[in-house]
Parts: sequence; C-alpha cells; structure tokens
Amino acid sequence: MALKKVDVVIVGVGWVGGIIASELTRAGLHVVGLERGRLRGRGTADFQDDHDELRYAIRNELFQNTANETWTLRHNLGEAALPIRQLGSFLPGTGLGGAGVHWNGQTWRFHPRDFTAYTSTVDRYGKSAIPAGMQIQDWGVTYDELEPYYDKFEYMAGIAGKAGNIKGQIIQGGNVFEGPRSREYPVRAQQTTELGALFQKAAQQLGYHPFPGPSANLPVQYKNPDGITRGQCTYCGFCERFGCEVGAKADPTTTVIPVALKTGRFEIRGYSNAYAIKNDGKHGQSVLYFDAAGKIQEQPADIIVMAAYVFNNVRTLLMSKLGQPYDPATGQGVVGRNYCYQTGGGGASGWFTGRRFKRYMGSGALQTAIDDFNADNFDHSGLGFIGGGSITSGSTGARPIQSLTTPPGTAPFGRDWKVAIQKYYASVISVGFQGESPAYQTHALDLDPNYRDQYGNPLVRITFDWEANERKMIAFAGTKTLEIMKAINPDIISGGPGSLPAHYDTSTYQSTHNTGGAPMGADPGTSVVNSYLQMWDVPNVFVVGACNFPQNAGFNPTGTVGALAYRAAEGILKFHKSGAGLV
Ligand SMILES: Cc1cc2nc3c(=O)[nH]c(=O)nc-3n(C[C@H](O)[C@H](O)[C@H](O)COP(=O)(O)OP(=O)(O)OC[C@H]3O[C@@H](n4cnc5c(N)ncnc54)[C@H](O)[C@@H]3O)c2cc1C
Ligand code: SF4
Repeated sequence: MALKKVDVVIVGVGWVGGIIASELTRAGLHVVGLERGRLRGRGTADFQDDHDELRYAIRNELFQNTANETWTLRHNLGEAALPIRQLGSFLPGTGLGGAGVHWNGQTWRFHPRDFTAYTSTVDRYGKSAIPAGMQIQDWGVTYDELEPYYDKFEYMAGIAGKAGNIKGQIIQGGNVFEGPRSREYPVRAQQTTELGALFQKAAQQLGYHPFPGPSANLPVQYKNPDGITRGQCTYCGFCERFGCEVGAKADPTTTVIPVALKTGRFEIRGYSNAYAIKNDGKHGQSVLYFDAAGKIQEQPADIIVMAAYVFNNVRTLLMSKLGQPYDPATGQGVVGRNYCYQTGGGGASGWFTGRRFKRYMGSGALQTAIDDFNADNFDHSGLGFIGGGSITSGSTGARPIQSLTTPPGTAPFGRDWKVAIQKYYASVISVGFQGESPAYQTHALDLDPNYRDQYGNPLVRITFDWEANERKMIAFAGTKTLEIMKAINPDIISGGPGSLPAHYDTSTYQSTHNTGGAPMGADPGTSVVNSYLQMWDVPNVFVVGACNFPQNAGFNPTGTVGALAYRAAEGILKFHKSGAGLV
C-alpha cells in the first residue's frame, strides 16, 4: 500500500537534495527525502576520528559500495561493457550529505562562454572547428541568468575568494577572466601559502594572472544568511575523502539540511534506495524504493525531484521509461545523452634540495590558480582543439600515505625509497591542470543489458573514452605547466607535453566530476529538462545535478550544481503555485 502523499519527494539528500529541501520547506511545503545511505553527519560528531587515511581514503568508508551497486564501462559502441568492480576513477558518495561531506570545497563558477559553448565556438572559429562526432551544445540558460543563483550558493556556503570582476569592473588579484559578479565573495580569500607564492610569482613573471582559488574551507568564522554559523579551518589537510571534524568545510549536513529540518516539514528516510518513478507518461505519481528491510515502498507526491547524482538520476528515468532514451548510434533521443567527465593530466612536479615547506598543513581548496588557458580565454587558432582548463598549484595537505612523491628514478620501495621520502616529503611542488570534457555522439549512459545491482535492477552502462581533441588539449597544457615549473625553478623537474592513457582508465582516481545524461537546454529534441530543470515531457518531475551539464567545463562542478539546485527550487515553487505546465 502506498504511503501518505506529500507535496514533494526528493530522491537523494546531498547538496542538491539539501538545497531544494531547505528552499521548499521554508516556503511551507512538506517534503520527504529518500536517502539510500545512512543518516550520518548531522553536526560534526560523526567525524571525530576522521584522520584515519586507511579507513576513509583507501578503504573508502564514505563512498558507494561497488559490491552492492556499480557501473559497467565500454570505450566504444563495439566493445562489451564490463563491471567496474573496485572504486577508482570516481568516488560517488552515499549517506546523508552525499559527496558534499567528503569533497574538497573548490567552488568555481563556469565562464559565460561555457553556457554558450556551441554558439561561441562557431562564432569565433567557424563550424569546422568542431570535430566530427563532437556534440557540444548551449545550455539554454546564460551565465547572467544563473549569476543570482551562484551568488546565493556562495553566500549560503561561505565561499572564500577574491573577485576579479564585479559588475564588469575588472579587479587585479582576482580571476580577471571570470564573468561579472554582482558582489564580492562573502568571505575573504584563504591566505596564500609559501608554495602558492612560488606559483604566483612564476605565473606573474610569465605574464599570466594568478589568483587565490575559491574555497569552501572557511579561513574565518562565518554566519550565513540562513543564520548558520561555522568556525574556521584548522588546515588539518584531511578534506578530500573525509568529513570535516570542525564544520569549517561547507557541507549539506552543516548548512542546508539543518535549515530544512528546523521547519518541521522535512522528513529524511535513510537506507531508502529508490529505483523508479511510477507514472502515466505525462505525470509522475510516486517514487518506488527499497526500505532498510529490503521491502518495496511507494511514496506518492505532487512533485518528484531526482537529486541522486548523475548515474542514478539517469538510471531512474530509464527504469521508469520517462523521456526518450538516447541512442548513441543514431544520436536520437535524450535520456543518457552527452555523458562527459573531466580531462585531467598534463601536470608538472618539482623537487627542491634542502628547502622544506609545511606540506603537512593545508586544506582541500587551498590553491593558487591561473585561468589564462581555460575556456576560450586564449586564441585557439591553429591549435587543433577547442576548450581548455584551469591550472592550479595546491596546498591541500600532504597525508602520510597517499601524498608521498619522489623524483623520477627513485626506487619504488626499500631503503632508497625511504631515504628519498624523508628527503623530499616536504620539498615538492606540483602544478596541475583540469580541463573540459566535450560531449560526443557516442559518449552516453544507458541501462546495461547484462549486469545488475543488489536488487536485481540493471546497472548504468557508461560508454566513454578520450578523443583527439582532449589529447591535443592535454599536450598543450603540459607545455604550460612545465613552463611555469621551470620559472619556479626547483632542483628536479618532472613534466612536459602531457598525454592521456591509450584509453580512459577507471583504476586510478581522477575526479568525481561525472556530468551529463540529463542535459538541460532550450530544445526538447536535444535536452531532458528546461532551464528550471523540469522535464519537458513530465512537468511535475525535476531532475537536478551535474547530469544537467550538456558538456563539462574546465572547473570543478559543484558551484554550478549548487546554482542549478537553487534555480530548480525556484522553478518547483512556481510550478507548485501554478499547479500545471512548464515554468
Ligand atoms: C573526493 C571528492 C572530492 C570532490 N571535490 C570537489 C571539489 O573540490 N569541488 C567541486 O566542485 N566538486 C567536488 N566534488 C564533487 C562534489 O562532491 C559533487 O559535485 C557534489 O557532491 C554533487 O552533489 P549532488 O547532490 O548532486 O550529489 P551527491 O553528493 O552524490 O548526492 C546524491 C545523494 O543521492 C543518494 N542516492 C544516490 N542514488 C540513490 C537512490 N537510488 N536512492 C536514494 N538515494 C540515492 C546518494 O547516496 C547521495 O547521498 C568532489 C567529489 C568527491 C567524491
Ligand atoms: S582542512 Fe579545514 S576544512 Fe578541511 S577537513 Fe580540515 S579543518 Fe575541515
């Protein structure tokens, strides 16, 4: 028997679910949140023992368990997809707060050009600049339209940074390439570290424009507009893959979720694994899920919100037969279209002899950046690729297991390795690049025909590989990071023209920046949702997250995900008021 109907049911309670719940409950709606994981991390008590690198970073305490549910991967349409049995390339979260609990906090806005990637590329370089098979498209929303929602996310989360463009006025010391902001960041930028200062000086010498990376790790105490106060970062260095024991890292469990719970109108059900939306093709009626006992439950609601990250947002639509499934062979259909990732590589490292930095301290988003080679901030004529990425040097804290690097030629174990670790642990600097991931007709998500999860439902099948455009971009990036490293002038340098592996490899961590599959847009023929993240075909279903990106930009995604969540909440409230149709 179905449970009592509510105004809204949200599937997944991470950043997206938490933001939407806080906005809707404060507007008076009754909301149920279905979260497949446990209800951890309300406050910080859950993370008192979290400097355990083996438990969290290596044995993956906080992430999705691939024994219960995983993905299959093939590199092209002709290959047989095989299950990813161990976490590696990406680490989706599970449990209250989602990956927002164990992210780094690097909180970027995309460039105005990113939202019009197709039109801007054609306008500047002509149609022939877009390689055959590439399927980049405009977002159906502009940067200017999204700016108020970026602002709202940043003020809620207390993002620390330095503006480079306020209402069109360029400000040196901030990111001079960014789109116009309506006002300064809510919190002053984190202080530059000694390593950051080396990068900054070298970049300036070369004529580039360094600035402090925007961070969700608070350098000072901050009270947000919702009345939530969080304390300052201790620079413990255990950000990425860990919860923050002092609450300095913005996380849904310490910001938006308590605000929603305080209204008394938000009920969160843990261990509730949703798998389908019951519908009649025009209207979503309820969400079907397995409860903690493995029993099927049905939660009816007037409005259904999918906030279960890229893979399960898309999987649930496909399982529910909502929207036209995408066919990568023909390019027809929409659900599963334009799966993208983040193109990493092309970094450089340098080791000093006899110079030691405080590498044991740091925070997940403590970095100095340049944006000179991102998006279309540089002339691509004759380069043979489109797009770009951000170049950064981070002081994220060097933990004792995963942060040990040695110069090229060092033995990988034994006495010589130990001597090198001792000598170089505190003496290394790195310069990294993370780049765009354009969409291609053949890169997609669908339901795997062979492999199933713990409940017997099909896994998501990923079809993805690196293409020539990204290979050229990474080779180019490698020359830039090496140029900067040479200007920093350490005693030993490793780097050079970057390269990507022969195929996309899931065994080593790259980023949890999976995007696409339910792209937003202005054309129902090429997008799943409109600019309020509302399904074209089924207006009472909203699908929200990085799944909405038509292709991925050269920055981390969550600033944009947060902005989209606030915009979706506004759209849901409009829809609730009008009672029908597209907003
Ligand atoms: C190690 C790491 C570091 C990162 N660092 C950064 C960074 O510095 N900057 C940045 O911009 N981004 C970063 N990210 C990415 C960032 O965490 C995500 O973009 C963000 O958390 C996405 O929020 P979300 O709410 O869309 O999804 P999630 O945080 O994944 O939340 C989705 C929730 O849905 C739940 N769920 C999934 N399926 C179901 C289902 N079937 N039924 C019920 N519930 C379900 C999940 O358990 C989860 O709690 C990082 C990610 C990781 C893992
Ligand atoms: S580095 Fe700072 S923000 Fe990150 S976990 Fe430690 S105290 Fe929290």
